[in-house]
Formats: sequence, structure tokens, C-alpha cells
Amino acid sequence: MALAILLSALAMTVIVALRYAASSGFFAWLTLRRHPDAHRGLSRQIGREIRWSLASAAIYGIPAGVLAWGWRTHGWTQIYTDWHAYPLWYAPVSLLVYLFAHDSWFYWTHRLLHRPRWFRLAHGVHHASRPPTAWAAMSFHPIEALSGAVVIPALTLLVPIHVAILGAVLAIMTVMGVTNHMGWEIFPRALVHSRVGKWLITASHHQLHHEEYRCNYGLYFRLWDHLCGTDRGLSPNA
Ligand SMILES: [Zn+2]
Ligand SMILES: [Zn+2]
Repeated sequence: MALAILLSALAMTVIVALRYAASSGFFAWLTLRRHPDAHRGLSRQIGREIRWSLASAAIYGIPAGVLAWGWRTHGWTQIYTDWHAYPLWYAPVSLLVYLFAHDSWFYWTHRLLHRPRWFRLAHGVHHASRPPTAWAAMSFHPIEALSGAVVIPALTLLVPIHVAILGAVLAIMTVMGVTNHMGWEIFPRALVHSRVGKWLITASHHQLHHEEYRCNYGLYFRLWDHLCGTDRGLSPNA
């Protein structure tokens, strides 16, 4: 049994690391196609981003792997595979619940991480990237990685979700984590500057967090930033 758990944790770590390499690699390549000088002089920083991110992959992979094993062998988690187990309208609702819960957790832990003590201890690693690149998507100190790694596994124990919707949550998490750090806006201006865009976080918003630090703390939505007066709008540089 211990071996099966270990193998599951190992397999999940490899999957998370490959997902990171593929997504960050793709968007880093896209960045260089659009802005050939974007990474000039950043090779040492990118090396650091990749090393921290691979360490984070293990921290994300281990709880996910243990839970995947528990789901298969003991039915842990509320993940379901039959679309008819819940009404169909529940599928998009569960997607929004997961994104909102993750966003709320991220916003408040992120604010805590900006307290001087926590910043020195952990979050400084993420902000050492100036400017961040697509490779910084998982560049976190292990303490911060741990706070991020427990969210989705904990939610799967509490909130029912179809396995495909869970895949969508993870895909959104991955793509937004990478694109928010690549230094340029990939979404159309018409969306970013629209009424809907006022509530969504893309690169232009998170870039300003990396420039000014004490604002724009959210992950997907600007709701908490608007409510708490920490939203300073979009960076002119992204
Ligand atoms: Zn960041
Ligand atoms: Zn921060």
C-alpha cells in the first residue's frame, strides 16, 4: 500500500512538472516570437524560476497523488465521473465555485505573504523575478507552494465536481498562472478594458502587482481587490 501511495505521488509530481514545462515552455516561446528581446539578460533569473518551479511541482504533486490514490482505492473525494450524478446545471456552477474558492484563498494568503515577515521568509522568492517571465508561473518558496498545493485537493474532499470540470479548473489555473507572468497581454483589449474585464485578472493586472507590490493581490477575479480597496487597475507596461 505504501508503495502504491508513493508511486501515485511520484507519478503526479512528474505530471505537474511536465505540465509546467509544456505550458511555460510554450508561452515563453510565444513571448520570444512576439518580443525577441523580452528575455535578454534574464537567463540567470529564468534558471532560478525553473528550479523553484520544479521544487513546487513536487509540493503540488504529492498531496494530489495521495488523494488520487485514495479516490481510486477508497472512494475519497467528491469527484464523480457520471454526468448524471448531479443535474447538468451543476457542472458550470461547480466550475465557478472552485475558481471563486481558490481565488478567495489566494487573495487572503497572498495579502498575508506580503506582511514583512512572511515576505522575507517566503514570498520574496516569487518577487525576485523582475520582471517575471512565463517560467515564473510556479516560482514559489516551498511555504507558499504548500499553501497553494492544498487548495484544490481540499476542495475535492468537500465540493462535488465532475472529473472533466476538475480538468478544466486545472487547465484554467495553469494557463492563467503562466500568461499572467509573461509580461504582455494575450487577451484582446476589447475584453480586458470591457465591463467584464473590470472583474477579471489577466497579465495587465498581475503585472502591476509585480511592479508596485502592495496592490492587485487576486488570482482570477478582481472582486476581493475591489471590495478591499487594493485594486489599482492595469499596468501600462503589459
Ligand atoms: Zn506573480
Ligand atoms: Zn505578491
